[in-house]
Amino acid sequence: MNVTIIGCGYVGLVTAACLADVGNDVCCFDVDRDKIDVLESGGIPIHEPGLHEIVARNKAAGRLSFTTDPHRAMTQREAIFIAVGTPSGEDGSADLQYVLAAASEIGRHIETFTVVVDKSTVPVGTARRVREAIAEQVAQRGLDCMFSVVSNPEFLKEGAAIEDFTRPERIVVGCDDDVPGERARETMKRLYAPYNRNRERMLFMDVRSAEFTKYAANAMLATRISFMNELANLAERVGADIEAVRRGIGSDPRIGYHFLYAGCGYGGSCFPKDVRALMQTAHEYGDTLRILDAVSSVNAAQKQVLVNKIVERFGDDLSDCVFGVWGLAFKPGTDDMREAPSRVVVAALLERGARVVAFDPVAMKEAKRAFAADLRGEPEARARLSFVEDQMDVVAGADALIVMTEWKAFKSPDFDSLKARLKQPIVFDGRNLYEPIAMEELGIEYYSIGRPRGA
Ligand code: NAD
Repeated sequence: MNVTIIGCGYVGLVTAACLADVGNDVCCFDVDRDKIDVLESGGIPIHEPGLHEIVARNKAAGRLSFTTDPHRAMTQREAIFIAVGTPSGEDGSADLQYVLAAASEIGRHIETFTVVVDKSTVPVGTARRVREAIAEQVAQRGLDCMFSVVSNPEFLKEGAAIEDFTRPERIVVGCDDDVPGERARETMKRLYAPYNRNRERMLFMDVRSAEFTKYAANAMLATRISFMNELANLAERVGADIEAVRRGIGSDPRIGYHFLYAGCGYGGSCFPKDVRALMQTAHEYGDTLRILDAVSSVNAAQKQVLVNKIVERFGDDLSDCVFGVWGLAFKPGTDDMREAPSRVVVAALLERGARVVAFDPVAMKEAKRAFAADLRGEPEARARLSFVEDQMDVVAGADALIVMTEWKAFKSPDFDSLKARLKQPIVFDGRNLYEPIAMEELGIEYYSIGRPRGA
């Protein structure tokens, strides 16, 4: 099939590469000239394991191309995916300007029946607005070209995106109940057939329910995290170990083990913004989602938990302290720094006068960009933040090590060497990577989340 993907980000590029890999002719369109240049010259603008190989293979085979030319990208295509960003607007609602700009562009260029696939995470009712934006442009051209807008939310996880796209748990598709909608449904079936062989994974539903499903999924996952974080803070106070509690409740199949880890708060490009957007949708309908209100505020507080522990240990004035930070990305396997907890913790330490030395296995470039933006107008604080290329250089002469992301490379470090390099053997672990008793035996003062020290 001839397919176009609008937006070459984490979702768009993975979708494009995977669809090309099963034989489709895929054109990637983006308004970011630099991104397209990088892709055309054989580079990849994001970090996603396995993506580089698939892109290179399909580009070489002539099945994957990149362009900033909308005419080339959008005429004579059977399906056009919209996979542009939907960041939070000022009031927390999803900012649809990129989605609607993409829709108008589609309307200016389609010539034959086209299935327009909304893959961006968008509030209920957006497909209707996309349809109107396309129809307006099509009408201005005096055409009567048919199209259908379907909702196909994406559930991939950064860091495991290829696996998630090619072996999905489910493929949610919302179609209209009319003739173009029926045609679109058949197109979607053909397009996803390679990922739907061994068992039925496609879930067809109405468009509004499909749009809602994505928010419901992310809101549920964020709820589990905030729930565990809140219990972790209590566990610490009452002398219980949240890791033991996690195993104890996860073994119940009604609860399950996934997404039960306590930590220093959730971040990333989806959970925070999608929870906010769903709350805002409720407000628009005169409603309040009380649970999600709590999920969001518990998460904001959780990003401060490590800072509170550090201040309790070193005092509020940290101007004599140097802290080493392991991990900056919001989770392992990605270079995504959007709403990463590390940004909150590092900013809080700098604000109290500390020096911070940081390392991340893949997110250094993105991190430098993110902190430059966060610390714009604060050159003095920015000068106290530095980055090193080797994880052990982070701890040289530091008063404590802070673990922010559970990268594999941090899971089993050489503790003797760590101790020898740190000015004081103190570790603040936001991801519960180490055993408190083992750390005590090693002579390391160890603070983690939801576990009594030396438990
Ligand atoms: P991203 O910011 O990485 O990429 C978006 C891309 O769209 C950018 O390259 C940008 O230049 C491009 N773009 C913006 N406006 C454009 C336009 N008018 N025409 C063409 N290109 C345009 O975003 P992302 O993380 O891939 O997310 C995309 C959507 O998918 C969002 O709605 C997000 O919520 C959703 N989503 C993301 C993930 C994830 O893990 N990142 C997972 C599931 C769903």
